[in-house]
Amino acid sequence: MEVGVGGGRRHRELKARQVVATRSQPTKIVAIRVWVKLQIACRLPATTSSPLLCSTSRPSEEIMADQFDFLSHRRCVWVNGPIIVGAGPSGLAVAAGLKEHGVPSVILERADCIASLWQKRTYDRLKLHLPKQFCQLPKFPFPADYPEYPTKKQFIDYLESYASHFGINPIFNQAVQSARYDETSELWRVRTAGPATEVEYIGRWLVAATGENSEKVVPELDGLREFAGDVIHVCDYKSGENFAGKRVLVVGCGNSGMEISLDLCDHNAFPAMVVRDRAHVLPREVLGKSVYELAVVMMKWLPLWLVDKILLVLAWFVLGSTEKYGLRRPSVGPLQLKNTQGRTPVLDVGALAKVKSGDIKVVPGIKRFSAGKVELVDGQVLDIDSVILATGYRSNVPQWLQGCDFFSKDGFPKTPFPNGWKGECGLYAVGFTKKGLSGAASDAVRTAADIGRIWKEELKPAKRLFACHRRCISQN
Ligand SMILES: Cc1cc2nc3c(=O)[nH]c(=O)nc-3n(C[C@H](O)[C@H](O)[C@H](O)COP(=O)(O)OP(=O)(O)OC[C@H]3O[C@@H](n4cnc5c(N)ncnc54)[C@H](O)[C@@H]3O)c2cc1C
Repeated sequence: MEVGVGGGRRHRELKARQVVATRSQPTKIVAIRVWVKLQIACRLPATTSSPLLCSTSRPSEEIMADQFDFLSHRRCVWVNGPIIVGAGPSGLAVAAGLKEHGVPSVILERADCIASLWQKRTYDRLKLHLPKQFCQLPKFPFPADYPEYPTKKQFIDYLESYASHFGINPIFNQAVQSARYDETSELWRVRTAGPATEVEYIGRWLVAATGENSEKVVPELDGLREFAGDVIHVCDYKSGENFAGKRVLVVGCGNSGMEISLDLCDHNAFPAMVVRDRAHVLPREVLGKSVYELAVVMMKWLPLWLVDKILLVLAWFVLGSTEKYGLRRPSVGPLQLKNTQGRTPVLDVGALAKVKSGDIKVVPGIKRFSAGKVELVDGQVLDIDSVILATGYRSNVPQWLQGCDFFSKDGFPKTPFPNGWKGECGLYAVGFTKKGLSGAASDAVRTAADIGRIWKEELKPAKRLFACHRRCISQN
């Protein structure tokens, strides 16, 4: 497999020279070196250890060492294949799919491990919220002995096996600072900041896989600075162990807020859960059957509004009325709300029983904090020791992707599922469907197939050049 022989790829590599040649003086020197290496590398197969071409078959340290330039703090790396940002389930799934299509890729990950959300920013008791068949990545089922709802540890083990099965070696500690498309060269330029140095990766395709939960959302709360106790975001909460005997205000009543309140109860703390908005709470299972699975099956035959009605009747049978405990339901049904506003219904794993028993106190919105206290909008004042902000996450794409209007300001593709995976100029988005892991898997399969198709077309160099030449002649 020759690289740089095909008209398209060769042309882009020539353009890469133009990109790097317009840079500042020290970078120019690097650029020239890069280009010289490119010239050499172009004659080598993409999958060999050529000095310049990166492929997932090579350890990242080796690539890094090869690219180091003693005259500059910034290194420049030509990526032979897509540049994938993020080594969560989405990034891994797309890299695996690309491998299956014979396309090498490079994954840049800001953390020092794969699936950092799961490894570093989730609580200990977490299990997958959805049954395992809706959470597995393409072409690699969960082990048969895994339970219906794998634990966080099992899910991480599964992802580690996934990465090693497909030979995926992300480059860690590479936080992408900016990525932009260079019109002149028709290439993506992706800058990262690592612990020691900055690197610029240059390549033909860019896959955004930084997830819907890459940054925590911390709301402005009046007086929070005066509150003397601990304040943490849910991403830093591991277990209720350290909160035994404490009065804890949990801000937010989504899946995380509810489950953490339950965990606090189990560790003899006294949680009060702030419920500002209306929320749908559904049982996770009805008669041993997953409610999510039931909804998926029903949606094949019935309209969404009817499925919503059935879900609410089932919820009423299993859970009773939630309103009298302070959990008022929105006027829009749970699936419609998810589809229109991306708000996930809470799948109850036991918290509601604690709400009913009064172990979890439901309180209205916050007015202001003061030292050791919180005043609520209904005038109540509570003495509290700690605050846990279960206030959610957001996408960080607008922070690093520049000059591109494929994503909206909230960091999601403007085109909704199932068409939000492909942008212009070799840009792809994987894992922004608001449909969890099944949405990410579907994006990954489409993205890998699309790039694989282009890759194969461009690997027909001789024919292409010849055909092109002939066309020119016939025109004359
Ligand atoms: C508590 C919790 C429970 C969940 N449970 C389920 C469930 O049961 N089922 C389900 O389907 N979904 C669930 N989800 C949704 C979850 O987001 C997905 O399951 C999954 O993690 C999405 O994978 P991802 O790769 O798209 O994003 P992530 O897992 O968030 O991975 C994105 C990666 O990109 C990296 N990154 C971000 N910014 C940069 C940057 N600038 N440069 C380099 N790297 C960067 C991050 O460090 C991270 O490793 C849950 C989410 C949470 C928070």
